[in-house]
This record gives sequence, structure tokens and C-alpha cells, in this order.
Amino acid sequence: MSISAFRAELGDIPQEDNPRLVQQRSRDHYWYSPILKAKLDHVTAEVVVSPRSNDEVKTVLAAAFRHGVAITPRGAGTGNYGQAMPLSGGAMLNLMNMDKVLDIKPDRVRAQAGAVLEEMDHQTRAAVHGELRFHPSTYRMASIGGFIAGGSGGVGSVRWGGLRNLGSILGLKVITCEAEPRELDLEGEDILKVAHAYGTNGIIVEAEMPLAPAHDWIDMIVGFDDFMAAARFAEAVALQDGLLVKEVAPCAAPIPEAYFNRHKPYIKAGQSVVLIMVAPVSAAAMTLFTSHSRGEMLYRSDRASEEELKRLPPVYELAWNHTTLRALKVDPSITYLQTRYPTIDHVEKIVSLLGDELPMHIEMTRQDGIVTFAGLPLVRYTTEARLEEIIRIHEDNGCNVFNPHRYTLEEGGMKRTDQKQLDFKREADPRGILNPGKMVAWENPDFDFKAGKAWLFDGLNPVH
Ligand code: FAD
Repeated sequence: MSISAFRAELGDIPQEDNPRLVQQRSRDHYWYSPILKAKLDHVTAEVVVSPRSNDEVKTVLAAAFRHGVAITPRGAGTGNYGQAMPLSGGAMLNLMNMDKVLDIKPDRVRAQAGAVLEEMDHQTRAAVHGELRFHPSTYRMASIGGFIAGGSGGVGSVRWGGLRNLGSILGLKVITCEAEPRELDLEGEDILKVAHAYGTNGIIVEAEMPLAPAHDWIDMIVGFDDFMAAARFAEAVALQDGLLVKEVAPCAAPIPEAYFNRHKPYIKAGQSVVLIMVAPVSAAAMTLFTSHSRGEMLYRSDRASEEELKRLPPVYELAWNHTTLRALKVDPSITYLQTRYPTIDHVEKIVSLLGDELPMHIEMTRQDGIVTFAGLPLVRYTTEARLEEIIRIHEDNGCNVFNPHRYTLEEGGMKRTDQKQLDFKREADPRGILNPGKMVAWENPDFDFKAGKAWLFDGLNPVH
């Protein structure tokens, strides 16, 4: 690989090679995991390249192909499994200069990959009173390209499911990494080839997303003395067809009191809470439902003063992986897991087995029409061996774990090769230049996932 020959072919495409800045841009939120932190701390690229158009992306990819330079795409760098970290060094491809909303229709929006989700909603709300169906809690920073390539769902998934569901992404424009990079328009099932592929098999430059009617969502926090009462209430709210909600998340004590610093004055000692976003049309019904369920309305944004609204983050920034972030700010030894509890009985079982070692946090989501408990429990981390044991306890009790302490696609979720994504990589990235080390099936098709060992990418050192 010749990084200098690669750079010489980029013309006036912006480049950054200040080592401190390059290292900053070579990181995401991998440090949420003590295991990834130890493995990936040294990882850095050699240059950050920031194209401004599809043609400039093609120029970068053609030069990378010619000179064998690894390319790791990056949006806002808010992923949390080291997805956007350049395991083989090379160049970071920063897409944030390509941030335009290109077209808005009453039911859909098309934007460049680097468009920030909040800004997309800003524009669609003004134009057609529509908004993205769901977004990660990193809404104010994350790019649409990064969300599609690295994310799964979020605020709104209680109504609309996740990115993997057909219909959640309408179209993608992708650029391949070949001698002569091609622009491909993917629709229908083809979208799943590059969605959630960590940018290993094509660079997303445009995305078309469906819109939902926009609402002036009201934040509510409802308190319960007992976590299981909070979890039952959360499930019941998610199942109520007449209640228009965008977010429902039960968080066990002591999470609210210990980690939601700015909301602390609203929360009583020992209370578990349910975080809710509800449409104004359903606010009165939600209040009634809450009192029927013996929940205590601790906070609602439509009753808050201007001063409170300025001071308090929106409820969605207490939810999803912001719960973990807030805990980590207070107690850096905390980490987390991603789980799925098939029923409330599974939640109860795990809570009874692990207690305060695993302060429970659940996101109510809809998966294939069924309301499910997507867990993002905190973990009071002691050792890697104990973390593995906690995972085993989940699995032994019929709960799924999507391990967030792994940087590969397969180990983080699927535990098997996604044949479509692998086949598309053969076509779109024949030299294996895009985000090396993240797709086990490409690097070592014989890797035995059942052997209980974590995959370690051979090239986990910058190549010079
Ligand atoms: P990045 O982190 O920059 O990239 C993510 C992945 O996509 C990387 O593998 C990168 O290489 C690749 N990539 C980036 N841009 C492109 C492109 N144009 N083409 C091809 N590949 C590309 N995730 C959720 O799904 N739901 C949540 O609610 C959620 N909450 C979060 C809360 C916090 C506090 C944090 C730190 C993370 C959270 N995440 C969540 C993870 C992450 O924020 C989201 O996945 C986010 O959408 C990533 O967007 P990004 O622009 O930061 O992408």
C-alpha cells in the first residue's frame, strides 16, 4: 500500500493528516466496552479524506483500489462497537461534507449520506409536516448514512420496528470500490445487502427514507416503586393501540436517581421510571392510563417552564444508548449489554437472577408486529469472564444477547454469515479494501463461531 501515491491522486479533495486530528476521527464510542477499549485503543488511520460529491468519492475509491489503501467510511462516529475504526490504518472517508437534503415528498425524503438526522426532520417538518419514522438517540449528531450502515432502530421503533424491516429504507445509492467505481441504485430487498454492513461492501452516498406524520411530542417520566410494575406498565402502553407514542422505556432504580443528573429533582429515592414520548392528541389518555396503572407522573414537558425546558435534555437523550452514556459519565466502570427478552417473565427472571449487578433498562419495540422487550441493561463490570457468564445466564434462560463487546458484524448480532452481504462484497469490493476486519466471513470463511473464541483480526495493526 502506498498512502503517499494514493494521496497524490486526490487533487483538491480536502485531506487532514495532523496525527492528533486523524486519531480523533479514527474513533467512535468503542470505549463503552472495556473489552473493545483494550483491543482498539491504538487504532488510527493515516489521513482523513472528506469528499464533497459522488464524483469525488469515486476518485478516492479508485485511487484506494489502485494503491491498496484501506478505506473506512465515517459519519459522525457515534457507533459503539468500533465499527468506524480503521483496523488496518489507511484512510478515513469522512462523509459529513455531503449533507444535503435532496428531495422531499409528502411521504418520503432523499438525502446525501452525511445529512444529520435532526436537520432532515427540520426540513421535512417545514416542507410537508413529516418526520423520520424512527431515529437513534444520537439524533442531533448522527448521519443518515451512518445510521443505515451501523444502526438498527431507536426512538419510534415502538411503532415502526427497525431498519432491517422491509419498507424502512426505500432506496440507497452506493458507490463500489473497483478500478472504475460504479454508482448503484439499490431498491427493495437489494437494500439489505448494504444496510447494517458497517460500510464493508460499498459507500452509501444517498438514502431515501419514508416519513411519518410529525407531532410535537410530549416527554413524560412516570415513576413506580417497583421495577416490574414499571415494566408491565411499559408493555401495556406499547400495546395500547389508541395511545400514539414514540418512545417507551422502563429504567430500573437506581438508574434514574443515580445517573439522570439533570432530572434528579423530579425523581424520588428508589424509584424506577418509564420514559415516554406521546403525541399531544394522546396526552390526556396517557395521563388517565398512568393513574389507572398507579404510576406517578413525575415530569411532563408540556407543563414545564421555559427555564426547565432549556435546562433539561429531551427524554430520548435519557434513552437507548444515552442511558449507558449517562451512567458512564457518573461511574466509568459501568458497561452494558444488548439483549432481547421474549416475554415479561423472561425480564423478571433475569432481574431476579442478576439484581443490581445488571441495572435493567429496556426499550419497548415492535418486531414483526409483536411488542418486545429490547434490553440495553447496564452492567457493573468486574471481569471479562463474569461478563461472559452474564451472557450465558441470559442464553440459558432463553434470552438473546447481541454482544456489543465485539467489533465484527457476525459476532455482534447474527452469529452466522450473511450470505447476501458477503456476495455483494465480492462484487463491490473485490480487493477487500472497505473497512477491513469487520466481516469475518470475508477474512476467514472457516472461523468456527461455536468454538467459544472471539474473532481477532490478523491485521489489527496499521499497515505501513
Ligand atoms: P458512524 O459511527 O460514523 O458509522 C457507523 C458505521 O457505518 C461504521 O461502520 C461506518 O464505517 C459506517 N458508515 C458510516 N457512514 C457510511 C456511509 N456513508 N456508507 C457506508 N458506511 C458508512 N444506534 C441505534 O441504532 N439506535 C440508537 O438509539 C442508538 N443510540 C445511541 C446512543 C449513543 C449515546 C451512542 C454513542 C450510540 C448510539 N447508537 C444507536 C449507535 C449510533 O449512534 C447509531 O448507529 C448512529 O446512527 C451512527 O451514525 P453515525 O453517523 O455516527 O455513524
